[in-house]
Amino acid sequence: MPQIKDIVKMLEQYAPLAYQESYDNAGLQTGNSTDAVTGILLCLDCTEAVVEEAVAKGCNMVVAHHPVIFKGIKSLTGKSYVERTIIKAIRNNIAIYASHTNLDSIHNGVNAKIAEKLELQNVKMLSSKPHTLLQLVFFVPVADTDKVLDAIHKAGAGQIGEYSNCSFQVTGTGRFTPSENADPTIGEASKPEQVQENRIEVVFPAYKKNSIMNALLAAHPYEEVAHYLTILENQNQEVGIGMVGELKTEQSEEQFLAYLKEKMNLQGLRYTSIGNKTIKKVAVCGGAGSFLIKDAIRSGADAFVTGDVKYHEFFDAEGQLMIADIGHYESEVYTKEIFYDTISKNFPNFAVYLSNVNTNPIRYTF
Ligand SMILES: [Zn+2]
Repeated sequence: MPQIKDIVKMLEQYAPLAYQESYDNAGLQTGNSTDAVTGILLCLDCTEAVVEEAVAKGCNMVVAHHPVIFKGIKSLTGKSYVERTIIKAIRNNIAIYASHTNLDSIHNGVNAKIAEKLELQNVKMLSSKPHTLLQLVFFVPVADTDKVLDAIHKAGAGQIGEYSNCSFQVTGTGRFTPSENADPTIGEASKPEQVQENRIEVVFPAYKKNSIMNALLAAHPYEEVAHYLTILENQNQEVGIGMVGELKTEQSEEQFLAYLKEKMNLQGLRYTSIGNKTIKKVAVCGGAGSFLIKDAIRSGADAFVTGDVKYHEFFDAEGQLMIADIGHYESEVYTKEIFYDTISKNFPNFAVYLSNVNTNPIRYTF
């Protein structure tokens, strides 16, 4: 029986906490990480009703997109839905886990799910997160190269898109003179030495730096490992906010609005008109994405699908693209399918349920 911490570890390999925004509070929010998991309930928002549903279904873990504990809590008296949800979860030994802006930021997260629902093609990051990649260059004796490469690949170095164990190497001559106090693997104190070495180059996500450097230092035969670490300016296509892709066929404004309603299961939406122009390229951002309107325009998108757009922000469309506010809940409700796919792939035959509670506090009337 897996423990809570096993599910957490797997979810954080999928959407690393390092990718959450500074204001966020993703991670394990309540519960004992060494409890055996009896079942997992998946939702967008963890509310009292969701905790009750978890109890009824025999689940002791709730995985949500929005963290129920988001701001500081100074007392737990049950005066708000947040406090009542936490109290109910703790009383029932329910672990609550949230994967929030870290899940927004990965290439197979919230926005990829919207792109999938809209059947977008050639999907790319709308705004890549800068400085999330590092390059490591180091020097290793030729005979030890494979052992060291193996260790750093296991720690996560050299994964580029669909390619793993990526590295580049070139052979040359390393020169050094050990001091009186040195304990050299090759050579003797105070005697100049020359060794055939490989110069190895690898790229990896910045958050893996410590584990990769530890693996390098543990596997490398030298007392002092000559290396450089460099922050790359490269656009990381795997980490960023929003996505942009293309519809299979061009659509008129009217067709696209009907398409959005059908694919995202909407009762209604708010939008800016682009008149007689057609829509082919579509940018998306789940939740409140109006901060990306200018990025969407720059990307050449004909429409930007998001939620929580304010009145004045609609003006920023400037007639250049359609802003379609489909609602925060509606844009992210399918996020639980990501949790479902990831958990059931890694823990098959395990009780995982999609919550039946509609946690959207907004109702519509027309
Ligand atoms: Zn959200």
